[in-house]
Amino acid sequence: MKKTLVWIFIALFNSSFSFSEEIKISQFLELQNYCEKSLSLFPGEYSKEAISGICHQVSYLNGCYSEKDKNVIFHYDKIGTSVVGKRILVFSLFHGDEFPAGSVARYWMERLYKINPRSSWRIIPILNPDGVNGKTRTNGRGVDLNRNLPTKNWEVLALEHWEKKEGKKERRFPGKVAGSERETQCVLNHIENFNPDFIISVHTPYGVLDFDGPQKSGKPSFDHLPWKRLGTYPGSLGRYMWNERNIPVLTIELKGNEFNLDPDYLSELQDIAGLMAIRTVQSKSN
Ligand SMILES: [Zn+2]
Repeated sequence: MKKTLVWIFIALFNSSFSFSEEIKISQFLELQNYCEKSLSLFPGEYSKEAISGICHQVSYLNGCYSEKDKNVIFHYDKIGTSVVGKRILVFSLFHGDEFPAGSVARYWMERLYKINPRSSWRIIPILNPDGVNGKTRTNGRGVDLNRNLPTKNWEVLALEHWEKKEGKKERRFPGKVAGSERETQCVLNHIENFNPDFIISVHTPYGVLDFDGPQKSGKPSFDHLPWKRLGTYPGSLGRYMWNERNIPVLTIELKGNEFNLDPDYLSELQDIAGLMAIRTVQSKSN
């Protein structure tokens, strides 16, 4: 028995080096604990048992860790069961100070853990761990990750937009170079590795649903959040994926301080998102 444990330890130790030399070994070995601890930070109730089961199954991609504290950016996969199912990629906490976004991701994982969904889901609950730790919108190096994706003409447009339209607000600094941040590279790795049909990004506080995708396919109504076009920006996920790659992006903006984290609300929100993924992507080929 002891021998087996030693071999497991060696296997884990070796594989951590093959993933990334810079990730702290203790973090890799304690991924489950780290996952449970970090998911407990977000408001609302959750099942400890389900989170423990989920955290036992999470993993991470090569290079997926944060700039400053080298925290692992882990993800949870649930394979779909239906031929009509799509591949849905969910990012939450691009912005570290939007805590209820973490509650949405946590609840969605809990639910996926218990059901057999039609679509295949990958959830990255905490894209910006340093921002969560420091309660900042930006990452540990002061970059707004939702302005740092390498969209077309980023070099010209991103800084100009920040200077002229955003008044050089620190909160929206796009970085000095497109894709400069490890967290941004992690987003790109997931897009390549998971090959999504549909992307969801969870934010606060505008209280709307925004869809960068084919507008013809119709949008299911959701009583709690109206649909509103917020537009895309140089370096944003919507522009990178929908405008430039034709993969739809649903942005969920939870409402200011009146967070509704009721399970029925969160379930309905997930069902609407899942339904949109199936309808939208089908309508593309019709
Ligand atoms: Zn945000």
